[in-house]
Amino acid sequence: MARRSKKLKEAGRCDPLAHLDARPPVVATEAVSRAAILAEWTGARIHILHVSSGDELRPLREAKARGVDITAETCPHYLLLDERAYTEKKSLIRVNPPVREKTHQDQLWAAVQDGTIDMIATDHAPHSHEEKHRDDIWTTDCGFTGVQTQMPLMLTQVGAGRLSLSDYVRMTSLAPAKAFGLYPRKGALLPGSDADLVVIDMDRETQVDSAKLKSKGSSTPFHGHAAKGAPVHTLVRGSFVMRDGALVVEAKGHGRNVRRIQQMPTPKPRNVETTTAAIVKKKR
Ligand SMILES: [Zn+2]
Repeated sequence: MARRSKKLKEAGRCDPLAHLDARPPVVATEAVSRAAILAEWTGARIHILHVSSGDELRPLREAKARGVDITAETCPHYLLLDERAYTEKKSLIRVNPPVREKTHQDQLWAAVQDGTIDMIATDHAPHSHEEKHRDDIWTTDCGFTGVQTQMPLMLTQVGAGRLSLSDYVRMTSLAPAKAFGLYPRKGALLPGSDADLVVIDMDRETQVDSAKLKSKGSSTPFHGHAAKGAPVHTLVRGSFVMRDGALVVEAKGHGRNVRRIQQMPTPKPRNVETTTAAIVKKKR
């Protein structure tokens, strides 16, 4: 990846597609494979974030089939955008890993539907308008806002029949809560759980509008995208933070850091007899 970037820069490439050219799927596939192999050998739990290519699914599926404690996440931009975005959105589309060709998008959807991918996240990475709109792709900041756009965009896909509403809830709430040791305080509607609730209207039609995003950095490649399905009310720990689509947070400081509350399952380290520490002590 570093070599490709260097060669592209030397050749004078600074157009948006140079970012995609610098980061072929093989770099992600190699990283997922290596991490999965080491996780299996050590018995470590592992979470793969931002799965962007169909190629990564092969080592991911293999690891899952071998019983590795591995989870994976993708984001709306990998499921809904493809290489045309580099022409249409220009430098704004710069994100790591990059949005890829349409063929990857189709494979990612299949992986969402068959359970290979466990979670849909946001990769919320807000930047100023100036940081996201530059003539030189190499100096453009990576990432864009995602928290406010994920739900309408993905509910639109639920409405279109590409995943069920319960699958969406599992992939955005239950699965992350379980993977990060927060279940059942988070990710569940049970006595004792935090009352974090979203009431949605599956028929409400909206259009993503940068100007209406509440994040300080409101640049989004989804500006102008039509959505059907929207959050109407949001409650956090039993209090409204959004009512009828309007923020109603009264007191600053209502937010709380979410730390690992529930004990994670007991680690099951493997091959402990062949760690470096173990072998240097061996008498042969
Ligand atoms: Zn990220």
